[in-house]
Amino acid sequence: MSLPDKTGHFDGFGGKYVPETLICALEELEKEYCAAKHDLSFRRQLDFYLREYAGRPTPLYFSQNLSKHLGLRIYLKREDLLHTGAHKINNTLGQALLALRMKKPRVIAETGAGQHGVATATVAALFGLKCAVYMGEDDIVRQSLNVYRMKLLGAEVVPVKCGSKTLKDATTEALRDWVTNVSTTHYIIGSVVGPHPYPMMVRDFQSVIGAEARKQILKKEGRLPDYLVACVGGGSNSMGLFHPFYNDKKVKFIGVEAGGKGRRPGEHAATLVTGKIGVLHGAKSNLLEDAFGQIEPTHSISAGLDYPGVGPEHAYYKLTGRATYVTVNDRHALEGFKLLSETEGIIPALEPAHAVYHLLELSRKVKKNSLVILCLSGRGDKDMGIVSSVEGVRL
Ligand SMILES: *Cc1c(COP(=O)(O)O)cnc(C)c1O
Repeated sequence: MSLPDKTGHFDGFGGKYVPETLICALEELEKEYCAAKHDLSFRRQLDFYLREYAGRPTPLYFSQNLSKHLGLRIYLKREDLLHTGAHKINNTLGQALLALRMKKPRVIAETGAGQHGVATATVAALFGLKCAVYMGEDDIVRQSLNVYRMKLLGAEVVPVKCGSKTLKDATTEALRDWVTNVSTTHYIIGSVVGPHPYPMMVRDFQSVIGAEARKQILKKEGRLPDYLVACVGGGSNSMGLFHPFYNDKKVKFIGVEAGGKGRRPGEHAATLVTGKIGVLHGAKSNLLEDAFGQIEPTHSISAGLDYPGVGPEHAYYKLTGRATYVTVNDRHALEGFKLLSETEGIIPALEPAHAVYHLLELSRKVKKNSLVILCLSGRGDKDMGIVSSVEGVRL
């Protein structure tokens, strides 16, 4: 049976834990999405923008120097080469076209680092939609460059002053806006999280990553890979890579979470590795909460992985053993960042730098020359400020 089931569950994970007023909107969205999925003209339109505007297909690049260095055969799926610099545009293009289809003139989004906010503001500008992006006040200060980008693109950036003033609170506020303005507004969620149908829909939009990679590796190597490796924040770039290989049981999936500064609560964002089952932002999944059920603060050097929840399908993959989840800490992520920069001349975003570092650990455990695809989810330009300040360099 293909998952999620009709109620939006992945064997118990997922669902729709939302206020009554949103149930209708979620049902409308699901109906529209299912119709669009089978509508040839919608698919052609999406393919057109993915190709001509975003830059797909992205290369599957054989990373010759890193491969030699580690004794693996490593291919990089180059999502960093896409317009706006990361995989997020795959999803925002799909959802913006859905908003047009539903005749909703306004879109909203939540953002942490600002990457999803920028990808949403970009497609809103492209399609002439009004756009508001919710962002925690602390993140607005930390990510001022992306705030400026969104404003240049014509979006309104709404500061969120409550709670921890970060992504989790921005998501809560965006849900609140949606409840109020549901007749005119589509909420573009940025990862495979939130209530059904979002985890399924975002997975499908991001599956272009794995579908392309599968064809490309068969062409280049004449066989399927041994390992797929990707970083996991909410879980969309990893799920996008993994999902088209789901039935290829010999292909092993490895998701890499942010180990942050340490194992104590508040020091990391290792939701699947250390979290418990609970409900956050409309879905049942793994999350980081304390003994009283309060969401714990999180930390990661990469803002894109700094989220206390994760998509329900990952919780299902973990439970069933289809994927393995590991952590890489801040310091090692920086090593991964430098390793790829120096060996291949490719500066990765700090999020996939976690996955790059994991290749080092993997290479010590697996057969020599194992075939690996790594999802290079984004480029490093946005992280220059963070990396240089950690290194004590003033720009
Ligand atoms: C947002 C982001 C992530 C984390 O989000 P997922 O939904 O887990 O993919 C990873 N890499 C980059 C470059 C991002 O911008």
